Amino acid sequence: MASHEATKVLRAAGEATIQVSLGSGVTLGDGRFTVIAGPCALENADQVEKSATAVKQAGAHVLRGGAFKPRTSPYAFQGLGEMGLKLLAEQGKRHRMPVISEVMDVSQLSLMMDYVDVLQIGARNMHNFSLLREVAKTQRPVVLKRGFGATLEEWLHAAEYLLDGGNDQVILCERGIRSFDTTLRNTLDLAGMAWVKERSKLPVIVDPSHSTGVRSLVIPMALAAAAAGADGLMVEVHPTPETALCDGPQALTPAMFGSLMQTLPGLLQATGRKLSGYEALTAVGS
Ligand code: PEP
Ligand code: MN
Repeated sequence: MASHEATKVLRAAGEATIQVSLGSGVTLGDGRFTVIAGPCALENADQVEKSATAVKQAGAHVLRGGAFKPRTSPYAFQGLGEMGLKLLAEQGKRHRMPVISEVMDVSQLSLMMDYVDVLQIGARNMHNFSLLREVAKTQRPVVLKRGFGATLEEWLHAAEYLLDGGNDQVILCERGIRSFDTTLRNTLDLAGMAWVKERSKLPVIVDPSHSTGVRSLVIPMALAAAAAGADGLMVEVHPTPETALCDGPQALTPAMFGSLMQTLPGLLQATGRKLSGYEALTAVGS
């Protein structure tokens, strides 16, 4: 019988991590640490503008924001749709940052392709194999989040669908899993992240926002992820978290995000690594 093992995602002995080019000169997987930041949901022009300006100023490399939101309740804010994508693309251009947003369904894919540099496949869609197959055909870089009930092997198999379909521009994102303990929103599996980094040649990033659900824990877990060897972060930042239409309790304020970005270079240096673009940032400041 033919093997069903996920083989295309595996790292051969001594093989380097795949470099994923996100646009505007940003590369994930080249050994430097990359930060994706922005609000959970794109809400309105002012909020998107303030979020983009704040994360860019602090040194983020990629701007995030959801236009189609997978909400637990059908009565919760579902996202701005195409209007949100327009605002995101506009701010990305203005600040020369690649932009990422979640594609929830195959039917949204051609629209998303007009606006985003990077496609996000959310935790709830990790097992949506028809979506994975269609996204593979686009050749666009993809962030594949781990399903909250998925084993590490299932996550790698989902990534295998993308590589097998012809797209190796794939970044894995650990965003916490559901465990017996429901005190926090999810349980951050940092050991799983480190195992996947060893086993797979794909870059792996960590989302300290959804994995904790608690603002005060986001920076500690972001730093822990950097120390544990992640290739980068995806972190939620909102100009006024108390008014956020989605995930306010886990959003960093711009000041908190600024402080995280100030702390990262020293922490990375201790493990022999660098923040992406850090030389350029310090050169401008000096
Ligand atoms: C998100 O990043 O906006 C999101 C919905 O995350 P997840 O799919 O990990 O729940
Ligand atoms: Mn969110």
